[in-house]
Amino acid sequence: MNLILIGPPGAGKGTQAKNIVEKYGIAHISTGDMFRETAASGSEVGKKLQSFMSAGKLVPDDVVIEVVKNRLAKADCVKGFLLDGFPRTDPQAQALDLMLAAGKQKIDAVLCLKIDDSEIVRRLSSRRVCPSCGGSFNLVSQPPKVDGICDFCAAKIVQRADDNEQTIRQRLQVYHQQTSPLIAYYTKRGILNSVDGSRAVNEVFKDLCAFIPTAGH
Ligand code: AMP
Repeated sequence: MNLILIGPPGAGKGTQAKNIVEKYGIAHISTGDMFRETAASGSEVGKKLQSFMSAGKLVPDDVVIEVVKNRLAKADCVKGFLLDGFPRTDPQAQALDLMLAAGKQKIDAVLCLKIDDSEIVRRLSSRRVCPSCGGSFNLVSQPPKVDGICDFCAAKIVQRADDNEQTIRQRLQVYHQQTSPLIAYYTKRGILNSVDGSRAVNEVFKDLCAFIPTAGH
């Protein structure tokens, strides 16, 4: 089973992606996580990636496509995968189609999280993440049990460099201009399923699961 999770920054893609891959036993492919990992290495490529991310801009298509192509070739993708944060542009969606066609594969469902811009700014400004295990918290709605410490691995949680209001607004603009047209792209194919992402995590998860085709169906 191959899935795409689409939605604006702060819609809860990372949290829902974790739950979905755990439940269905498929590979989690987050381009954002991969880029943050490379950026943390401090290499020249990492520094370049960081400059795009810090500015709230998209990493160039050719770079992203190459990274995803290599990732999809890894053995764990054979059992299926969830793409989280890819594709984000029309050329990326077309490149994905070509990659999948070459391997006689297809996307079974596109899951789209819908949420208002004002709610996103509110959520992201109070989001904190764990740089060690990827855990995500919200100081208002889902604070860690111990102030400043990850519930899952006890590392110190931090604010993402791109979670400040100016960069959030830039990321939203990029989403509306470049990524949201993909909703029409997948609607035309009849594989788009939208869910209201503003609700509690478990409610959103339940609705998403209802759209995930399971083996044999
Ligand atoms: P995310 O964690 O998905 O919000 O991604 C964080 C940042 O990584 C984005 O703001 C972009 O700078 C970059 N990025 C992640 N995925 C992509 C993509 N598919 N295309 C271009 N840039 C991306």
